[in-house]
Amino acid sequence: MDEEWFHGVLPREEVVRLLTQDGDFLVRETTRNDECQTVLSVCWGGHKHFIVQTTAEGHYRFEGPAFPSIRELILYQFNSGLPVTGRSGAILYKPIPRERWELNNDDVILLDKIGRGNFGDVYKAQLKSTSQEVAVKTCRVTLPEEHKKKFLQEGRILKQYDHPNIVKLIGICVQKQPIMIVMELVPGGSLLTFLRKNASILTEGQLMNMCLDAAAGMRYLESKNCIHRDLAARNCLVGYANTVKISDFGMSREEEEYIVSDGMKQIPIKWTAPEALNFGKYTSLCDVWSYGILCWEIFSRGGTPYSGMSNSKAREKIDTGYRMPAPENTPDEMYRLMLRCWEYQPENRPNFEQIYTVVDTLCQAYRVSFL
Ligand code: ADP
Repeated sequence: MDEEWFHGVLPREEVVRLLTQDGDFLVRETTRNDECQTVLSVCWGGHKHFIVQTTAEGHYRFEGPAFPSIRELILYQFNSGLPVTGRSGAILYKPIPRERWELNNDDVILLDKIGRGNFGDVYKAQLKSTSQEVAVKTCRVTLPEEHKKKFLQEGRILKQYDHPNIVKLIGICVQKQPIMIVMELVPGGSLLTFLRKNASILTEGQLMNMCLDAAAGMRYLESKNCIHRDLAARNCLVGYANTVKISDFGMSREEEEYIVSDGMKQIPIKWTAPEALNFGKYTSLCDVWSYGILCWEIFSRGGTPYSGMSNSKAREKIDTGYRMPAPENTPDEMYRLMLRCWEYQPENRPNFEQIYTVVDTLCQAYRVSFL
């Protein structure tokens, strides 16, 4: 575990991404049929994965000599320059160390439980090294491997982003179970809960600023060709000074267009654009539709969209041209923007660049009128 080239339970997809040249190698763990196995992954005309064998004496080997520790076995393979197996011919040239964001599970101390996610509980926690307070999403140990990969998808996407309105990734812990994602702690919690709790004290100006924050975050994602696919108040967080941060990238994809073919399980119907529901076709313009719903949630101070309608009823009404009325006290321009986000044809909707400009102008006008 102390070796830089030991990557814990890092999923195979990640491993393949890290090993790019012949001779690159690392060591990781997998569980097969409840049994933990240590695997040497090597790039050698493709990717080869060798399971470390255990001898009757409890020593470790591939085809050659056995050693009392896995560390000695790997160092022997590396120093001798002999192929790991005769058949593969794979030789170890370069150990690939853990990346900056691959933390040890022991680097974080879990404190209070602050939420419940799809994959497991969310905790307030502290980084041992800097005492920084962080949020940690855990992945239930009992979930199948498939789910663990999906869980880490969020980390993979978030790790490349740096924007004040996108929740920041600090690291992932994959040294051992449970797998965890470490993120900046956003103290206000979910935007939906925040809106409901503070409904009576939030001013229109503050609500407008929240829409602006969300637009800034989404404009950034749009520029990175990231489609969020699950934008909603429940998936935004509220930070200091009511800053809204986009979170929950569990469904997001980095593509200009993403076609869903494997059924439409767990789709947030009331937030999803018609072309995504009907043809499984996702683009940033679908996120624009959801952004319209998000603004509606913000101005209704945490209301439920299409309240009193079932998902299928709402879907049917949308197809016949129905759109939700403006929540009480919504500025006209803001409601007009919502309606533009809900244009049936995606190409008639504004993009986030345009949305940001509209909302920014509105916010400025608001500030001026209150001076
Ligand atoms: P999942 O994607 O698995 O559904 P969420 O991202 O929705 O999980 O997280 C569940 C809850 O945990 C959120 O509603 C929120 O209250 C809390 N939470 C998640 N991330 C953070 C964070 N970075 N800071 C503070 N609270 C968070």
